[in-house]
Order: sequence, then C-alpha cells, then structure tokens
Amino acid sequence: MTHPATPPRQQQFASDNYAGMCPNAARWFQEATASGHEPAYGDDGWTQRVSEALRELFQTDCDIYFVFNGTAANSLALASLCQSYHSVICTSVAHIETDECGGPEFFSNGSKLLVAEADSAAGRLGKLTPDAVEAMVTKRSDIHYPKPKVVSLTQATELGTVYTVEEVRAIAAIAKRRHLKVHMDGARFANAVATLGCQPSDITWRAGVDVLCFGGTKNGLPVGEAVVFFDRALSVDFAWRVKQAGQLASKMRFISAPWLGLLENDTWLANARHANAMAQRLHAAIRDLAGVQVLHEPRANAVFARLPPPAVTALRAKGWRFYEFIAGGGCRFMCAWDTTPESVDAFAADIAAALPG
Ligand SMILES: *Cc1c(COP(=O)(O)O)cnc(C)c1O
Repeated sequence: MTHPATPPRQQQFASDNYAGMCPNAARWFQEATASGHEPAYGDDGWTQRVSEALRELFQTDCDIYFVFNGTAANSLALASLCQSYHSVICTSVAHIETDECGGPEFFSNGSKLLVAEADSAAGRLGKLTPDAVEAMVTKRSDIHYPKPKVVSLTQATELGTVYTVEEVRAIAAIAKRRHLKVHMDGARFANAVATLGCQPSDITWRAGVDVLCFGGTKNGLPVGEAVVFFDRALSVDFAWRVKQAGQLASKMRFISAPWLGLLENDTWLANARHANAMAQRLHAAIRDLAGVQVLHEPRANAVFARLPPPAVTALRAKGWRFYEFIAGGGCRFMCAWDTTPESVDAFAADIAAALPG
C-alpha cells in the first residue's frame, strides 16, 4: 500500500527544529541503511569516519560522542566536568538553566548552576561577561558554598548574539586563572561560526574551550548532537555516562552518518549562512515598521522583536507560530536551513498588516 504524499506545510518561525533534514543529511542516512549490517553501539565505520572528519574540522585530536539531543549533550558534558559539590557559572537565560528541566543538576548528582545576569547592552544581550564570571567565582570560597568548577557559554546565545573570539578568550582566561573548565553549548554553533567567519578551532579549543556540544539537529540533521572533548582527560568514562543515561544509540550509524552530509562540502556552514541570511532579510523587512521594536540586529538566525499584543494575536490567528518571552526578548522569530525568502516575505507582510494602521 502506498501512502499519499503530504503537501508541505506553511514554514514557521518558531524554531529551527521545526525544519526537516537537509538533503545531504538525508542522502547519508540512506547510505547508512543501504550498507546493510554494521556493528552496533558506535563500532560502525560511519561513526569512525565522522569522528575523523570532525577531528579534521577542528584541527585537533578531540574525543567525540554522539547523543540524541542537546539537553543530554549539555547535561552529560557538565556532569563529566563536575563533582556533585561543584557549580557551573552560566547566564540567567542559559538553556541549561531555563530549558533542560534540571538535567545538568540531575546528571551531575546535584552540581548547582550559579546564575549570573546576562549582559543587557543591545548587541551583547545574553552574553556572559568576564566581570560577571570573576564576581561569581570570587564571591565565596568557603566550604558552605558549591565550588565553581565550570563556566558555560552558549554560542550563539539564546538571544541570538554571538561571542567574538576575543570575548571567549577573555572569559577562558579568567576560567584558567580560577581553575574552571569551559563548556560551550553550541546548539547553534554553526550559525555563530558562519557569522564570525573564523575556523571552528579559533572559537573553541584555541580560545580555551574544553568541551563543545555541537548541535546538528537545528542545522539540518534528523536527530543528534556531537559532544566534542578537546581535553581528552575530561572524557574518561564518558561512554559509560552516555550509556547509563539512555543516550547510547544501538544503531549509532543513523545519528553519525548524516553528519557526513553536513560536513561534506561545508554543508553545515552553508545551512547556517542561509538561516542567518533569512534572519537578516526578515530584520530588514520589519525593522522600520511603526510599532515594531527590534531588540538588536540579528547576529545569528533569530530576530527578536516586540510587537503590540493585538498584532501578536492577529499573526497567530493567521496560523503563524513563534515563541514569545524567550529570555525576556519579546517575540522570537527563528529561521532555519530551509527557510525560503518567500516565507520570510509572506511573514513580514503579515506582520506589517497586523500592526495598527
Ligand atoms: C535547542 C537548544 C538546545 C538543545 O535542546 P534539545 O531540545 O534538548 O535538543 C540546547 N541549547 C540551546 C541554546 C538550544 O537552543
């Protein structure tokens, strides 16, 4: 029995994880099933190939693990850096703080997140500052307080800003001086690299990052994130941690092989550049509309803007989906690897029509 093809739905601006998988990822997914029987649990050739390709991309002999989602990647990476009496410095808008249901605390058996106020200057919204890290780590040193052990940065941030190489270096320098490890939540790492135009190594291990959670899902994979340890001493026993957490895919090749599609011809960067460009297009179309208050020029693939509540209601009535109040940032309009210019223009036109005339 054949199933009728489902017509594509209206594209949405709620999240980049609304998008499907990109053709290159889908092709390698197919290849991985066409290859027949393969060893399970990551002992397959695909997983070895992708790990090698990622080591090449990062220009270093890093240790790599594949998990199903970003919450697990972050939670398990942080748990591997902390004892239960340690703490993790992050911003108040960090995904690990606001959107992982206590996963980092749970998997670390109680490591506390120490929340610093994110930078509030336009253009730097959502970033951790060196001063905030220094203040957090020097606030207490007594035995009654969970000992700071990790600084966690989100790149690109939850508010669509991007840390420069210098900014990461500055925070990592304090971390090093204070004996903290540096974790990077890179759910949108590709979008940040596309904006910066730097090598992936420049913004990670060369700048002092110890472990990166490299997001694949939002960049065009069906599922899967890579946990990249630049310091191999930190990944000892990580494989057991992944297994215990229920994050070890037995048919690992279906998570790893699609990464080959992302890495081939820098598809990951092309996907990210496209998503970023669509955010620029949307920003250009709505920034001068009376009643729209854009928070800052997009640096990655999201536009944050305040709209009058009736306009929000009208847009929702037309079937548009988007988030509000993420990190206190008004409406969030997120573009994906497959967002079309036509979708952006249609959405922008509906925003204009929804505003009080
Ligand atoms: C999407 C996202 C994640 C991963 O979330 P999952 O739903 O667990 O895959 C992690 N960090 C940030 C900043 C994100 O936006």
